Amino acid sequence: MVDLLIRNGDVVTPGGVEMLDVAIEGEHIAAVASPGALSEAGREIDASGKIVIPGGVDPHCHWNLGWRETKCEGQEHSWAAAWGGTTTIIDFAFREGDMSLHEAVAFKRAEADGSMAVDYGLHALLAGETPFEVLEEIGDVIRSGIPTIKTLTTYGWMSDDGHRYGVMTEVAAHGGMSIVHAEDDALANWLTKKYVREGKTHGGYIAETRGPLVEELAIRRCLLLAERTGSPLYVFHMAAAAGVHALAEARGRGLPVFGETLIVYLSYTSEKLFDDENRGLLVSNFPTIKTQADQDELWRAVADERLQVVSSDHYGLNADIRYRHMGTSVETPQGGQNAVEMRVPVLYHRGVHEARISLQRFVELISSNPARLMGLYPRKGAIQPGSDADIAIIDPSRTWTVRASEHHMGGDYNAWEDWELHGKVVTTILRGTPLVEDEQWVGSRTAGRYQPRTLDPHLGERVAP
Ligand SMILES: [Zn+2]
Repeated sequence: MVDLLIRNGDVVTPGGVEMLDVAIEGEHIAAVASPGALSEAGREIDASGKIVIPGGVDPHCHWNLGWRETKCEGQEHSWAAAWGGTTTIIDFAFREGDMSLHEAVAFKRAEADGSMAVDYGLHALLAGETPFEVLEEIGDVIRSGIPTIKTLTTYGWMSDDGHRYGVMTEVAAHGGMSIVHAEDDALANWLTKKYVREGKTHGGYIAETRGPLVEELAIRRCLLLAERTGSPLYVFHMAAAAGVHALAEARGRGLPVFGETLIVYLSYTSEKLFDDENRGLLVSNFPTIKTQADQDELWRAVADERLQVVSSDHYGLNADIRYRHMGTSVETPQGGQNAVEMRVPVLYHRGVHEARISLQRFVELISSNPARLMGLYPRKGAIQPGSDADIAIIDPSRTWTVRASEHHMGGDYNAWEDWELHGKVVTTILRGTPLVEDEQWVGSRTAGRYQPRTLDPHLGERVAP
């Protein structure tokens, strides 16, 4: 007798979408079989008429990240991930100043261990200049289960290309993958000065001062560095069609380079930034959203595999922090998004319900692909025997209205406020234990477990085009 049986759902497995039963024993999936074929269970969940998917894997989230004198929400709000069907997230060990990389990892682990509601891994973020002593720690940190190393090309924590070359060389030597926030700092700064001189200071002009060329320029440089150093590369939060084209060219030459876009970029365009009456700047992220033509291309790219992942870049903030501490002008743009709870339902609505992508593709974008690329597959990201029993059940017939007053994230606004969504996550199971059941919280808020990651040894191979 198994512990839990999910009966009669439309189950998305690596093989396709089919009505199946899923049996769970302890923390793992024991069997997947035709309806009725499996034996009795300790308890059953009837998933008739519902969609059963592997729990979401969100590879880009921030908790407890500081911005000047403020901080975003803490790990106690990580339960919002589960409310939104996500059972694994990846946050960051942030290294700067005199800290060693090992100290940065220990610091973040101390903060997160025992306080996360869902499973989690870490990226290493190397801010600013990376001393040689820190470079020498990279191999060790990769082997310890943190194989993805991020640098920034702009904003306060940027590294120059010299330091990035050093980091990527070390990442390549130890079988890791480089990650970049790619926007060209010099071009953005020059354009910002030009806009200020011309009196174009509204915060919405960030879409022009940090427009498509700003992204493309940095992405192309990072692609070249990745190719020359032999490092696989994953480009965070791609918003511009020009950047997608640069990535696609490199992929077309067989390079192991990958990209994600954000759910907010698939939801809004830069016109919204000028909607002052409705606090339109709240939809801005770093990089900022681009035009309708860019968004149309992002949708094509997530559908045709030029982009592999849709993530949230979750950064739980109050509107007040954005408007008072970050700012509203083109010189002091605001960004960040309460989004971890919204990623799966909004992509289901915009993607599957509105027929832009298939159900299978939706699952690849929010779960299987991030699990594969980040070294969590098949433990995470698949409904198949042996995988962790991380499952989200979506009721496609449920419609609901988004309200910040009802979401479970710490921030007090929601960029999707008043949106009518088709499809709601009604049940979320983490390693065999329900956290959300029939839209009620029934689980622990601190049972998330740290997940060391190991990249697929073939990930970095150049494939024949
Ligand atoms: Zn981020």
